[in-house]
Amino acid sequence: MQKMLVVAECPSCCAAVEFDTDVRAGEIVVCFECSGELEVMSTEPPTLALAPEVEEDWGE
Ligand SMILES: [Zn+2]
Repeated sequence: MQKMLVVAECPSCCAAVEFDTDVRAGEIVVCFECSGELEVMSTEPPTLALAPEVEEDWGE
């Protein structure tokens, strides 16, 4: 079965970022151009947003 790709514009650098249609909203894709982490907001239409900065060390 062939994978379908969709293209959305990177909100950071405006590159055309491709991702699979099996990628669900909320998943993270990485822009090949700026290496930014982008959250998939929707696949129909394909929409990307800058992923929120996750603070990994909650401890002090
Ligand atoms: Zn980018």
